[in-house]
Amino acid sequence: MQQSRLENSRAIVTGASSGIGEGIARAYAAAGASVIVNFRSDEEAAERIVKDIREDGGVAEAVQADVSTPDGCARLFEAADEKFGGIDILVSNAGIQRDAAFTDLSLEDWRKVLDVNLTGQFLCAQEAVRRFRGQGLDPDRSPALGKIIFTSSVHQAIPWAGHANYATAKGGIKLLMETMAQELASEKIRVNAIAPGAIKTAINRDAWEDEQARNELLKLIPYGRIGNTEDVAEAAIWLASDASDYVVGTTLFVDGGMMLYPAFREGG
Ligand code: NAD
Repeated sequence: MQQSRLENSRAIVTGASSGIGEGIARAYAAAGASVIVNFRSDEEAAERIVKDIREDGGVAEAVQADVSTPDGCARLFEAADEKFGGIDILVSNAGIQRDAAFTDLSLEDWRKVLDVNLTGQFLCAQEAVRRFRGQGLDPDRSPALGKIIFTSSVHQAIPWAGHANYATAKGGIKLLMETMAQELASEKIRVNAIAPGAIKTAINRDAWEDEQARNELLKLIPYGRIGNTEDVAEAAIWLASDASDYVVGTTLFVDGGMMLYPAFREGG
């Protein structure tokens, strides 16, 4: 078990029944936090994660909610209140892809991705800020009133052909995060983002499952390997802990160097 750095913390992780959210939920619990494991539809997976956490001596609850609705977000915070007596950390992580060439992208898929990846993160963050204010600062617990971490992507900065809806949502997250951070820092609410590169999860299975696709992907990663959910979870622990108390409005890229224009390694 890793060193406990989130003791006495209560966290909500959205989209936590798989992939990066699952990795963060497990790591937070191992680091001492009580964790709401949000799932949209895969209750079995969420309950399995909660069971594992409890067997390891951790504290977790599975809570169903669609984060693209105000009611869904509210339900997560109500559960945190009821089960843990409040909330200190929101990891707004749920996300989807609906890929299409630009002129084939339907209005429905444009809206769906923005609803979950941008509006969903906005709604849960808004609820978090209201809850943090209602609780008030407790210096014995943390120097911060609360912490919000968005899961963004390298595609908040790198354009991505065939994924206009996704890249637009992630670009939106960047300025949502920075604007919130600027607006809320004086209240001791820390807002930051993690921008993963290529992390091996269900969302990008096509990019790593067959060897040819994997080799193409590796050309984009100077560090020479595809990331795993633990890589992101370690960063998420630090960003949620008081060890990063002076980090405000930052995007932490966890990408094996994907942001470094790897195509320029040979010439340019
Ligand atoms: P994933 O598909 O395993 O996880 C996404 C999770 O979000 C799933 O558990 C899904 O059920 C949940 N979800 C979807 N819609 C929801 C809704 N309306 N309400 C609640 N939950 C919902 O994929 P992942 O890679 O773990 O993705 C997690 C986040 O990381 C996403 O925001 C994604 O954009 C981002 N990301 C992933 C990568 C990567 O390489 N895997 C890279 C950059 C960013």
